[in-house]
This record gives sequence, C-alpha cells and structure tokens, in this order.
Amino acid sequence: MDNNLSSNSFDLSPEILDEIQLNIEEIIKGFPISETNKIDVIKKINFMYSHTKHLSVTDPLTGLYNRRHFDNMIEREFLRAQRYSNDLSIALIDVDFFKKVNDTHGHLCGDYVLKEVAYLTLQTFRKTDMVFRYGGEEILVILTETPLEKAVIPLERLRKSIENYPFNYDGKDIKITVSIGVESLCEETHNFEELIDHADKALYKAKDNGRNQVVTSSAL
Ligand code: GH3
Ligand code: MG
Ligand code: MG
Repeated sequence: MDNNLSSNSFDLSPEILDEIQLNIEEIIKGFPISETNKIDVIKKINFMYSHTKHLSVTDPLTGLYNRRHFDNMIEREFLRAQRYSNDLSIALIDVDFFKKVNDTHGHLCGDYVLKEVAYLTLQTFRKTDMVFRYGGEEILVILTETPLEKAVIPLERLRKSIENYPFNYDGKDIKITVSIGVESLCEETHNFEELIDHADKALYKAKDNGRNQVVTSSAL
C-alpha cells in the first residue's frame, strides 16, 4: 500500500505541469481547424488534465490525499509557516490492532474500516487542514495555523467519534479505536522531518500507554 513514485513515474512539480498544460492550449489555438473544434479539443484536454491531476494526488481506497502529494506539499507548508511565524501542527493517526481486524474479519472488512476512518477524519478538520493517507493504516493531518493546545481539541473529538462509531461489516459490529501523536512547529524545530519524527514518537507513546489516546510531543 505504498504510494511512492515508481522508477518510471513522472516526477514533475505541479507548477511545471500547469505550465505544460497552458502551452498545449497555445499550440492548439494555432491549429488550422475551426474555432468550435479548437474550443472542444481544449475543453477535453482540460478535463483529462484535471482528472489525471486529481488521480495523481488521491489515494484510491480512501479518497484522501496520497503519500506522494504529502511529499510534494510538506516542505512548502513548513517553510511558509516558519517564514511568516505561523502555527503549524502535524498529527499522526494510527488504527489500533488493525492487523487483528483483517485477521478476524478479512481484508475487505479492513478496507471498509479504513474508508470509514478516513471519512470521519475528513469530517473533523477544517477545509484549510490537509488529510493524507500516510501509510497502510496511518493517516497524517497537517493543521495549518494551529498551535499544539488547539490541535488537541479536534484530535480528541476525532478519537472519541471513532471510538463511538457503529462500525458494522457483514452484519457484525466492530469496535475500532485509534492512537494519535501530535507535534507543532516551535523555535527549536529545524526541519519538517523533525516534526514528523516527534509526532511519530508521541504516537508510539500513545500505543505504549495503552492506545485509544492523543499524546502531544510536550508529554515526551
Ligand atoms: P498497533 O495497534 O500497534 O498499531 O497494531 P496494528 O495491528 O494496527 O499494526 P500493524 O503494523 O501490526 O498492522 C497494520 C496492518 O495494516 C497490517 C497490514 O496488513 C494492514 N494494512 C495495511 N494497508 C492495508 C489496506 O489497504 N487494507 C487492509 N485491509 N489492511 C491494510
Ligand atoms: Mg501502523
Ligand atoms: Mg495500527
């Protein structure tokens, strides 16, 4: 379930792709065909382009942004927050004992749980926050302009809503919980890798403490 680029994938930045698309439009405008045909061709190319662009940033199972998009976005978001002294928090959400869900109820049930957890996560955060499928059963949220103490509020709400959600697959009720680790940008943060590493350590502490809880990096 890794969304890393394979060796034969395109590795062009979204800005360069947008520029290529604009150039294609210019080329078509110069074709010796009727204006109506030109508009038609441009419309089709624009549609295919936005559709492909959407697919390239989306995880097919959950509909969340994929890992590739995260890798493209995180440095920019980090540098922007650092430059303008904006708050920024990163949360890692991991489904507890997920392997057991697959082993007990089957892989398709595991997929169902992931989709529901992704949906509940999207419902919880603001439009300005970004939700990514970071790994198999791990979700990463970038909370823009949000300091640590404010990030905990929606994360705790999400934790509770998952704990209380009536997961049901094939007529069977399933109890699901998540553990969450969160870290925020501060003066001592050197790079975004450090933010992720601290969120990951907080997540491990949440697991160690018994799961189904939110742990902040300040508690490490
Ligand atoms: P912990 O509480 O410590 O997080 O335990 P865990 O069982 O959740 O963790 P572990 O890393 O052992 O297992 C993660 C499982 O997630 C193993 C893998 O098969 C499953 N998984 C990863 N991606 C998918 C997916 O797309 N669909 C399904 N059904 N399972 C997946
Ligand atoms: Mg995991
Ligand atoms: Mg897990």
